[in-house]
Amino acid sequence: MPAFCYHRPATVEEAVGLLAEYGSDAKVLAGGQSLVPLLALRLSHPEHLVDIGRIDGLAAVDDGPAGFTVGAAVRHADVELSPVTGRAAPLVAAAMPHIGHRAIRNRGTVCGSLAHADPAAELPAVALAADAEMVVRSASGERTIPAADFFLGYLTSALDETELLTAVRFPSWPRSTGGSVAEVSRRHGDYALVGLAAVVGVGDGGRVERAALSFFGAGATPVRVTEAEQVLVGEHPDPAAFAEAADVVTKSIEPPGDNHATAAYRAHVAGVLTRRCLAEAAGRATGGGA
Ligand SMILES: Cc1cc2nc3c(=O)[nH]c(=O)nc-3n(C[C@H](O)[C@H](O)[C@H](O)COP(=O)(O)OP(=O)(O)OC[C@H]3O[C@@H](n4cnc5c(N)ncnc54)[C@H](O)[C@@H]3O)c2cc1C
Repeated sequence: MPAFCYHRPATVEEAVGLLAEYGSDAKVLAGGQSLVPLLALRLSHPEHLVDIGRIDGLAAVDDGPAGFTVGAAVRHADVELSPVTGRAAPLVAAAMPHIGHRAIRNRGTVCGSLAHADPAAELPAVALAADAEMVVRSASGERTIPAADFFLGYLTSALDETELLTAVRFPSWPRSTGGSVAEVSRRHGDYALVGLAAVVGVGDGGRVERAALSFFGAGATPVRVTEAEQVLVGEHPDPAAFAEAADVVTKSIEPPGDNHATAAYRAHVAGVLTRRCLAEAAGRATGGGA
């Protein structure tokens, strides 16, 4: 790795002070599961690393009136193994087993995954589907960024170089709502070729009130296919509606083609995942699913 100065602040104030002082010469180090490989490959060469792993105030998971809040030092495994996650943020719970391998989840952080903004990663798509909010601090104060405004491009988020993502907040999970996460990858633990985080909310009349279809591995950012979501709203959550939404997804999504899979293959898989995830999410919303 290139040489760097290592800083281990004890407080958020100290951390954002270091980011303000060193600007583009500094990088936040969270779990290191994405940053350290980039350093080792010399694709990134910051002069200063600001390790946030020992800041006590960032290590908490909270399920309060504001929603399910995950601090920046919380590891994937802490969220995966917490008894609260499945009830408070079922979509996050569904995504966890897909993220790399257990050793990676033992070190990597939820907020690190969001800040890294890899379009093939599960959690950015989950955050987008669940209307999560990013809580961001800098030396000049705090701001909140909706997930819809956070992911700007390939490995690019709305964070500027002096900002620390201190937490992500998932709104309380509404009643009669189900979620599902599925993906196709070459091997278990690999990043997805294409994946989907889906949400279905069913109203008292048994019709879909809310649908979210948020794809990963399908563009430079996670992608919501709103045309297909609209097809579902007002319909009964049945196989015919799911097939129609899947058809819209396959026709409207514009995934990249590369040496792992062609664009046409990814679009086809996106349609298949749409049908599967909608059926599972709707089953969970109506109490008939797993
Ligand atoms: C073999 C392998 C397989 C993997 N497979 C998957 C997978 O299938 N799905 C998946 O989603 N991920 C996968 N990952 C990545 C893993 O989930 C990472 O943990 C995650 O992407 C980044 O989290 P981290 O805490 O390790 O962040 P780091 O590596 O420490 O940081 C990543 C980037 O985010 C910035 N950053 C981190 N935290 C903050 C913060 N709080 N505020 C501002 N900036 C911040 C850093 O400066 C850096 O630029 C894999 C990793 C490996 C090595």
